[in-house]
Amino acid sequence: MKPVYFFDEGDGKNKKLLGGKGAGLCEMTRLKLPVPPGFVITTEVCKKYYENNKKLPKSIIAEVKRNIAKLERRTGKVWDSQDNPLLVSVRSGAAISMPGMMDTILNLGINDKTVKGLTKKTNNPRFAWDSYRRFIQLFGKVVFGVDDRRFDQVLEFIKEKQGATIDSELSEESLKEIVTKYKEICEEHTGKKFPTNPFEQLELSIKAVFNSWNGERARIYREKNNITKEIADGTAVNVVSMAFGNMGNDSATGVVFTRNPGDGTRHLFGDYLVNAQGEDVVAGVRTPKAVADLKKDLPKSYNELVKTCAKLEKHYKEPQDIEFTIEQGKFYLLQTRNAKMNATGMIKTSIEMVKEKLINKQKAILRLNPEQLEQLLHKRIDEDNVSNYAILGKGIPASPGAANGIAVFDVKKATSMGENGSKVILVREETKPEDVPAFFASVGILTSRGGKTSHAAVVARGMGKPCIVGCSELRIDHENKKCTVNGTAVNEGDLITIDGSTGKVFVGEVPTIEPKITRDFKTILEWSNNAKRIGIRANADTPEGAKLAREYGAEGIGLCRTERMFNASDRIGLFVDMIMAETLQDRKKILEKLGQLQKSDFIQILKAMEGYPVTIRLLDPPLHEFLPNPEELANKVRTLEQRNALEVERSKVLLARARELAEVNPMMGHRGVRVGVSYPEIYEMQIRAVFEAAIELKKQRIDAHPQIMIPQVSSLEELRYVKEIYDRIKDEVEKENKTKLKINFGTMLEVVRACLTAEQIATTAEFFSFGTNDLTQATFSFSREDAEGKFLPEYLNKELLERNPFQTLDTNGVGRLIKLGIKNGRSVKHRLEIGICGEHGGDPDSIKFCHNSGLSYVSASPHRIPIAIVSAGQAALAGRVRKKAGKIKRRK
Ligand code: ADP
Ligand code: MG
Ligand code: MG
Repeated sequence: MKPVYFFDEGDGKNKKLLGGKGAGLCEMTRLKLPVPPGFVITTEVCKKYYENNKKLPKSIIAEVKRNIAKLERRTGKVWDSQDNPLLVSVRSGAAISMPGMMDTILNLGINDKTVKGLTKKTNNPRFAWDSYRRFIQLFGKVVFGVDDRRFDQVLEFIKEKQGATIDSELSEESLKEIVTKYKEICEEHTGKKFPTNPFEQLELSIKAVFNSWNGERARIYREKNNITKEIADGTAVNVVSMAFGNMGNDSATGVVFTRNPGDGTRHLFGDYLVNAQGEDVVAGVRTPKAVADLKKDLPKSYNELVKTCAKLEKHYKEPQDIEFTIEQGKFYLLQTRNAKMNATGMIKTSIEMVKEKLINKQKAILRLNPEQLEQLLHKRIDEDNVSNYAILGKGIPASPGAANGIAVFDVKKATSMGENGSKVILVREETKPEDVPAFFASVGILTSRGGKTSHAAVVARGMGKPCIVGCSELRIDHENKKCTVNGTAVNEGDLITIDGSTGKVFVGEVPTIEPKITRDFKTILEWSNNAKRIGIRANADTPEGAKLAREYGAEGIGLCRTERMFNASDRIGLFVDMIMAETLQDRKKILEKLGQLQKSDFIQILKAMEGYPVTIRLLDPPLHEFLPNPEELANKVRTLEQRNALEVERSKVLLARARELAEVNPMMGHRGVRVGVSYPEIYEMQIRAVFEAAIELKKQRIDAHPQIMIPQVSSLEELRYVKEIYDRIKDEVEKENKTKLKINFGTMLEVVRACLTAEQIATTAEFFSFGTNDLTQATFSFSREDAEGKFLPEYLNKELLERNPFQTLDTNGVGRLIKLGIKNGRSVKHRLEIGICGEHGGDPDSIKFCHNSGLSYVSASPHRIPIAIVSAGQAALAGRVRKKAGKIKRRK
């Protein structure tokens, strides 16, 4: 293997071998852009260095020397010369950019002899000594590990002594003094003379770069960012002849984005400094100027910069982030890479680059990161104003978006205040199912306990409300109606702001920015829609959710959870009464009332989704979830008894029922179709409500497409049991109204057995929908709350699992059951509609799997619809790109 590549030899595509920086330098050299000559020592050499017990093989040193000789020929400068010295920089660079690795060493090759050569050659002693002091500082820090502050102290001291305010004012005398002092610092640190031989300097630097690959900072960075050996294995070393930005006022150094990374607009964006070197621009030693000023300062170089940026964009077909240096009016490029932009910037550039014919629509979609687009779909904190507000504390960001409102600690109060029009943020230790009415009434939720899958988090996410959980510094004092966070008190009624995207809680009303689907974003969605083949539906339980989903482009509702409707404050009482009813007759009476409410809900939702299918799932959770917690109820009974209150009898009955219904493992307990089997009158009521809603809408000439879905089915027999009820009700309603209705009857596939016997179930079901949350729990035998709260983080840490299977579909395990279910089902009904309605329906990678498995649609929460559309477009386009590549190969 060739260990060293001169810039004109390297393959600019091979980042793995040459590192990102090295590949870019090779590519730019090939494009005849003004890159200072240099060479790359490959990542393979880095690996060899480690295999070789951290020694550089002799052959490598010889190869480096050969390349330095080549550099001499190319630059006309001479290594270690007292007339015309060659100086270089030594730069690290792995396959992907990695802060945490070695800092760059500039001006290597300088010593007491060559500094004279530099002075002679340039006739500029100030510049020569400035370069020297920079070298010693960087070398001392990087190679010897000297604390930077020691150098800074000297620098400050001498600046003061001379009366200079900025570095570029330092005199030759001062700089010489600094060099002497700097050397002393290094010698004191190492106990050895400062190395003067340029080859010794170079060898030590190369080793320092290689060592930095396994430094603690770099290792932690790789671990945190999931950078595996497949992505980056070892660092390359770039040795680049120096371009001097510190040679006077006709020299400069700068950093530029070819387009504005904040909003994507097409103009150069960045800073530069005259008479400066290296990282002065970023380090803030002087305030840099905006790149537009370069037009006046150095017009010729500015023109060259503009031309270069255009050329780079044309070549890479991506906006670039570049480093440049101007040496006495001559322009040099030192680095280029694809610019990192925010979501607005990415979208804008996708559209504009298509207009400019730089890329096609496919590339415009494929270059986006769907997950990043989430930024644009929620209200967010106005970053320009945020510094005026104090941060109260930080919790776990559980549901994205920002909200401001008054803090309320009591559930009932929050509900009534919210319903009366106040903007309320519910602040609690934790929440329970019976608190759900307060969720509806609040603009945001903040809890001191719980994790990403606590009740508060799950419910808030489902509703698309901002939520922070586990804000552990938060102490609520219910008696005095206040809370304290890190010593700051917030009284009930005080304004606070929560940012569910970052977990930050602020005092006061921080201005927020409304989410908006811009025209550009709409265009992207349109292009994605045209490309995609899988359908996109929404999980929505309210007319508002349905409307939002339609606005975002959902083609129906894949999951409408009927139980959410029972949790609203005007329903929950009735529902509890229904559970408590002592006779079937009593229960049926209450169910009739609930049926009317449910019917009106369905009418509204179906209206909002006119023309599109709405899959209505019958009651799923166990009944005890609607009753108060037995332990708390028992406490209440005790206090009531002491007061001899009248209510005590009713509470005792409620307690008895709550205890009767309590389960050891509710996830696998009396829920879903099992409740329907035990209390057929509940499913009967719900099925009737769907049919009657459909009749009503038919009368109004509204094109409604409800379908009925049964949860938790494990066998054909269970499904048939409910199908008989369905058939009977259908018959009754149709006869009563003298009309026929087409309402599909289907099932969820969320029990393992249902997937295994899907060919039987398909004889009765008219559609399937994979409930991948439960199916994942069942396949792993993980209960989600326990897994995420206890051992999943450890599993991820120890790499026993690559991803959280509740966020991204486990294609290897759960995915096989899905494929089996599809195959079994479609073996009976060729064109069976099969969708997925778990949280995975909004996850980009899972959507790609669904596309490839031939699912009919994915269903995601309304706020994820745009992300799902872009992901689905990408899945289809990636397929096409793959097919094309296949064809080309075959032809060859
Ligand atoms: P990083 O990866 O931290 O950006 P770089 O290796 O790109 O580190 O270099 C740090 C700074 O030094 C940048 O401003 C870069 O432009 C500058 N630099 C590196 N090599 C040279 C060189 N040969 N001539 C002039 N400036 C250089
Ligand atoms: Mg750096
Ligand atoms: Mg750089």
